[in-house]
Amino acid sequence: MNNPLFILKQTYGYGQFRGQQAEIIDHVNEGGSAFVLMPTGSGKSLCYQIPSLCRDGVGVIISPLIALMQDQITALEQLGISAGAINSGMPLRDLLRVRQKLENNQLDLLYVAPERLVMEEFLEILDQVNIALFAIDEAHCVSQWGHDFRPDYTALSLLATRFKGIPRIALTATADQATRKDIVERLELDEGKTFIGGFDRPNIHYSILERNNPKKQVLDFIRNHHPEDSGIIYCISRKKVEDMAEWLQAMNINALPYHAGLTPEVRSRNQDRFLREEKIIIVATIAFGMGIDKPDVRYVTHMNIPKSIEAYYQETGRAGRDGLPSNAYMIYGMDDAAMQRNWIESSEAPDIQKRIEHQKLNALLGLCEAAICRRQILLEYFDDSCEPCGNCDTCENKPETFDGTIPAQMALSAVFRTGQRFGMVYVVDVLMGKEDERIIRFGHDRQSTFGIGAKLSKNEWQNIFRQLVSQNLLMVDINEHNGIKITDKGFLFLKKKDRVNFRKLTEKQKRQKGKSPRKARIELDNNLDQILYENLRAARQQIAKKRRVPAYVIFNDKTLIELAKVRPKNFEDMLEISGIGTAKLKKFGQTLLDVILAA
Ligand code: ADP
Ligand code: ZN
Repeated sequence: MNNPLFILKQTYGYGQFRGQQAEIIDHVNEGGSAFVLMPTGSGKSLCYQIPSLCRDGVGVIISPLIALMQDQITALEQLGISAGAINSGMPLRDLLRVRQKLENNQLDLLYVAPERLVMEEFLEILDQVNIALFAIDEAHCVSQWGHDFRPDYTALSLLATRFKGIPRIALTATADQATRKDIVERLELDEGKTFIGGFDRPNIHYSILERNNPKKQVLDFIRNHHPEDSGIIYCISRKKVEDMAEWLQAMNINALPYHAGLTPEVRSRNQDRFLREEKIIIVATIAFGMGIDKPDVRYVTHMNIPKSIEAYYQETGRAGRDGLPSNAYMIYGMDDAAMQRNWIESSEAPDIQKRIEHQKLNALLGLCEAAICRRQILLEYFDDSCEPCGNCDTCENKPETFDGTIPAQMALSAVFRTGQRFGMVYVVDVLMGKEDERIIRFGHDRQSTFGIGAKLSKNEWQNIFRQLVSQNLLMVDINEHNGIKITDKGFLFLKKKDRVNFRKLTEKQKRQKGKSPRKARIELDNNLDQILYENLRAARQQIAKKRRVPAYVIFNDKTLIELAKVRPKNFEDMLEISGIGTAKLKKFGQTLLDVILAA
């Protein structure tokens, strides 16, 4: 029973371990501590769940998101695993029941929030029970260099001293070099091992294009590529979230808002609906998403840029955890960078941290304006690498670049001569020599830069300005009515007569249209299989409704696809399907078998 591979098959219904899972599990089973850095959807949970089942005692899982614990537990119960949670939000009666089970050694897994774990009263209970391991999920929260620092997490360093000899396994999907080092130090994992998985999420298609008509761009994207799917739309502010959600609803699309300004009840209701329903969209600020493991999120859309590549990778990583084709679709504009820079500057963080955040933002802007494979840039950021992937917008439609030195010099000097206080539209008008009433009134029509850029179109100039901002030669001052200023780097560029390259607009972009990403719909080759698949989905939905759990907790899409293709004829054959273990077979096998046999 204590054999990991046997548990994998029997309990989870999977035939083999993926990547470094087996190695990590063996290491922890032998009492080792570990740091695991692997992308979302790569199967990190099994790395602590299986050792918890193999080893004596309960596995204690520390996770920041109590709202999702109940779902995790429900999912584990379907597998026949005994799990419980202890957190501040739960009624006393439930708390006592879990505590009783814990003290009776009846739990395989216990989920607990960090602030609860470090309470002395709770630690004393833990002193009394047999502990298989501690798993620190979302471990990047430990580090100030991580992009989601949580002070409660720092207290977790006590685990190393108070529970000597019990393995600690820290897991995250996102951490750059500095963050990794910090996690290992704070949790005293150095005696343990670091496992870094490949970062690639090959099933995710990336595309990033300029924003011109945000709502319509996103609506078109959904209608053209994902009319039947669930997805997440990230917006930069609460107001934008509300606005977009309302607008989509008016367009007859099932969309719900989520942000920190909503009451906890509304938030948890919307999150719940998102997890449970199909064909549903959540429009959210970054407050949404950590720990959400709905596996069939088919797309993640950004209507504004996030603050770093880590954040982008983590947010887009919420798409396609089931390994099926999915889309990451981002639209961005020049004011995004301005807004992010302004936030960094106005924060209370020490200067060194501000500098780091500016650098992180620069890396992200570099990704947006890249003329090479997006995936290569993403992976290189995490010290991983790949060949040009063929599954991103720049691979499919390689942008050309051009030497932009002269236009850049023109743009900068026009900004300078007009006093570094006008917005982009105005400066572009000056460059193009537009006889505008304001321009004449300010006398800018008599300057040397007036009309020197008349050869380029308005779109081309906007493209250049956006890239100048993202390369940090120009900045937009949102405190000064979006006036454009030259940065220190910009002045240096002029002084040293540096050269600069820009992405060319494609013919299509010149006509103000965005490139469209590849279709990521699940389509089975055979029409009859497709029909059976839809029937299996309907049956799954029924079971899920009756049990009041999300459909994917019953079986994920991958399992249904395999069922539709293989068409097993009995229970024995069904066990060969990925994702069907003995507990689920017993609970749901007959219902699905009936559907298959009736086809
Ligand atoms: P992570 O925590 O790294 O984001 P999960 O642990 O949620 O990833 O795993 C993602 C999905 O992959 C889950 O549906 C999980 O059941 C499945 N999975 C994990 N390990 C395996 C495996 N060895 N074979 C098949 N599927 C697996
Ligand atoms: Zn690519």
